Amino acid sequence: MPLFLDKNLKNIHEKIRNNLRLSFEDGLNLLKTQDLLGLGYLASLVKENLHSKKVYYVFNQHVNYSNICLNLCKFCAFGKPPEHPDAYELDIEEIIKKLKKNPSPVREIHIVGGLNPRLPYEYYLDLLKTIKKEFPLAQIKAFTCVEIEHLARLAQKSIEEVLKDLKSAGLSCLPGGGAEVFSERIRKKLCPEKISGKRWLEIARTAHKLGIPTNATMLYGHLETYEERIEHLIALRQLQDETKGFLCFIPLPFLPQKSYLKREVAPTTGFEDLKMMAVARLMLDNIPHIKAYWVFLGLKLAQVALHFGADDLHGTVYEEKISDFSGAEGDKALSRKEIERLIREAGFEPVERDALYRPV
Ligand code: SF4
Repeated sequence: MPLFLDKNLKNIHEKIRNNLRLSFEDGLNLLKTQDLLGLGYLASLVKENLHSKKVYYVFNQHVNYSNICLNLCKFCAFGKPPEHPDAYELDIEEIIKKLKKNPSPVREIHIVGGLNPRLPYEYYLDLLKTIKKEFPLAQIKAFTCVEIEHLARLAQKSIEEVLKDLKSAGLSCLPGGGAEVFSERIRKKLCPEKISGKRWLEIARTAHKLGIPTNATMLYGHLETYEERIEHLIALRQLQDETKGFLCFIPLPFLPQKSYLKREVAPTTGFEDLKMMAVARLMLDNIPHIKAYWVFLGLKLAQVALHFGADDLHGTVYEEKISDFSGAEGDKALSRKEIERLIREAGFEPVERDALYRPV
C-alpha cells in the first residue's frame, strides 16, 4: 500500500481501485493537496491502466493563418486589431509555401487563428481543400469552436452546415481551443466577446454528432478558482458520457508575460502545472488522452508530466505563433529523434500517432 501524506488521497485511491467516479469534492481535494508525489502516483496508476507504457506524439505542423481578431480577449497576446503593426494574415499560397519548407511526411496540420472579419468563408474551405490536395497523408485538425461560430455568422449558416462544409473540404477533427474556463464569471471578465462556455459545449456536441472528434482545453492560472476548474472538467466529462467525441484534454497554463494581465497575475509554477495535469487525468475518467503541451509547459516540465498522468507529448510543431506572441520561452520545434528521446528517458515507449491517435 503506498504511503500518502494526505489522507484524502488514501480515500481517493480506494475509489480509483474500485473504478468509482471522482466527485466534485474529490477534485477540489486533489487540487488542494500538497502531496504531489502521492497525486502523481494516482494519476500514473490510471494512465498506465489505460495506455501501459505508451506515450504518443505526432509529426505535425501548425498554421496560424491570421492574428487579426474581433474578440481581443484580455488574456490573449496573439489577437490584434487590424490596424496593429503586428497584425497579419497569410494567403493560401504563402501557407502552402511555408508548410513545404518543413520536413515531411507530416501527419497532422493544426490550423487556428483569430476571428478575422476580412477573410471570406470561401478562404477557409479553399485552405482546407488546398492543404488536403498538397499533403494527402496529413489529417487536418482545424478551428476552435470559437472560430466555427465566427464562420457560421460569416456564412449565415448553421453550425451543422458549416461543420459539414468543412468536413467535405478535408477537416478531420477540431483542436479544442477557446474553451478557456467555462465559468461565466471569468468569461465576463476576461473574454466578454467570446462565445459562452455553454455555446462552446453545444458546438463540440454538434461536431461529435457529425462524426468529427474534438479535443478540449482549459486555460488555467489566471483569475479562476479551483472550484471553477473542477466545474470545467466535470462539464467536459458529462458531455463525453453523452457523445464519446473528445479524444484528448489539454491543460494550458496561462502565460501572462505579454498579456494585459501581466501585472495582476504571476505565471503558474511547476508544482501547480503538475498538479493540474494529474487532476485532469483523475477527473476525466472517460477522455482517453491527456496532453502535456510542451510548447506552453516547456520541454523539461512536459517530460516530467508524463509521470503525472500525461500520455501524449503533442508533436514536433513547426511554425506555431500563439506561444511566441504570449512569451513562451524555449524550443520552437522538435525532431522525431528528440521527442522520442524525451519519452524514452522518462521510461516510456514512444508511439507516433496521427491526429486521431491511430499509431502510424
Ligand atoms: S483568444 Fe482567440 S478569440 Fe480571443 S483574442 Fe485571442 S485569438 Fe481572438
